[in-house]
Amino acid sequence: MTFDSLGLSAPLLKAVAEQGYETPTPIQLQAIPAVLAGKDVMAAAQTGTGKTAGFTLPILEILSKGERAHANQARVLVLTPTRELAAQVGTSVATYGRNLRLSSTVVFGGVKINPQMMKLRKGVDVLVATPGRLLDLYNQKAVKFKQLEILVLDEADRMLDMGFIHDIKKILALLPAKRQNLMFSATFSDDIRTLAKGMVNNPVEISVSPRNTTVEAVEQWLCPVDKKQKSALLTRLIQDNEWQQVLVFCRTKHGANRLARQLDTRGIQAVAIHGNKSQGARTKALSGFKNGRTRILVATDIAARGLDIDQLPHVVNFDLPNVPEDYVHRIGRTARAGASGEAVSLVSADEHKQLVDIERLIRQQIERRYIDGFDPVHDLPVSRPISEDRAPRPRRPKKPKPGHSDGQRSGENARGHKPSGKNRKHTGNRNQAGGGSGDNANKNRRSRRNRNPGSAGGQSAGAVQRGSNR
Ligand code: AMP
Repeated sequence: MTFDSLGLSAPLLKAVAEQGYETPTPIQLQAIPAVLAGKDVMAAAQTGTGKTAGFTLPILEILSKGERAHANQARVLVLTPTRELAAQVGTSVATYGRNLRLSSTVVFGGVKINPQMMKLRKGVDVLVATPGRLLDLYNQKAVKFKQLEILVLDEADRMLDMGFIHDIKKILALLPAKRQNLMFSATFSDDIRTLAKGMVNNPVEISVSPRNTTVEAVEQWLCPVDKKQKSALLTRLIQDNEWQQVLVFCRTKHGANRLARQLDTRGIQAVAIHGNKSQGARTKALSGFKNGRTRILVATDIAARGLDIDQLPHVVNFDLPNVPEDYVHRIGRTARAGASGEAVSLVSADEHKQLVDIERLIRQQIERRYIDGFDPVHDLPVSRPISEDRAPRPRRPKKPKPGHSDGQRSGENARGHKPSGKNRKHTGNRNQAGGGSGDNANKNRRSRRNRNPGSAGGQSAGAVQRGSNR
């Protein structure tokens, strides 16, 4: 199947070809005809599936045929949870619409409102916005929705996680009742379904990957390691494997700052990106990472939302996320649109509960590999086998704390560094010294492989699988 058969006109097909896309992704195959037919859509699609083009292309097609936007009106509203995702979607709209005479703009908080008000004066065909800033603009009469034809809620699950439900309800109440609605979400929890009930009418439901499973092309593995050794282990992994572009996730802003500093002092160029950084600093960090000037981008979950970096080869979970769905979002950063990628988690004993929650959510045990010289003193308890019948209960969204407008969590020390103390059975030889290179290390590696005859090859330098995670 090619793009030509989806009902898109020549200017859009030209833009798609200019992007180098040859075949539509599964979400595009399903969403484009449904949106063109004027249907409401509810799509379960992870980031990296090509969902943005899946809704942007048919929307631009529809817009190209109608009346242009009047002063201060918006014909399409795309709501996103974060500034980065808004900017990303805005770029996609401009890229795919470059051969059409349509206008678009992006508005989000954290920057001056006046230039945004100026841009809205003439009206825009596509307005991409974060909820809070959109309401501010509406209250200042800078934007009106009389002409609104289509509403898109992108990453709806994240909107709820970030406590935007009230803003979304307020926005829905401002829009004309007769409109087309498109809702995209990586996961479809009960809360999302409740929200959808009040928003979409008789939607076409699309799911391009099984609910809550991780992107198959991602090679996932984890290293059990003591918390205080994580930074040194990450340095080793980057250096031994010569990773050139790595997105590292930390749970907190302070943790991200500290890790970026540590890597930098070890000669590995790293920049932190999180909600306390100005928009300018975030944009600069991202462009440095994309163009290869910065080797490591250390990010919190919220800041990383919407980052679109083609073919990102490595994602590292320096800390496991507290919300298991975030694991799926994080590793969705790699192996985007058909590329393959690797997601490595550094897991300390105190994160066992998060690991159990993640493995239950993705319904698979993550392969464990021990790195020579980094065997943990506090061992990570063995995971229980995943039973098919025990799906995790969806978590209730957390209300963001005041002063953390983009939903960042702070207080790294909120969780202690102590191991859980449970099930701390020592299952391997902890006394091995030495690094990942040299004869001793190689001997160690060989001896461990022998202990685990089921171990597969093809792993990163210094890594040893242990088949004992059942
Ligand atoms: P998204 O899931 O919308 O964030 O898109 C992920 C990445 O896939 C982006 O870098 C797009 O440029 C890319 N992409 C989207 N559609 C296609 C396609 N049909 N073929 C190849 N790459 C695509």
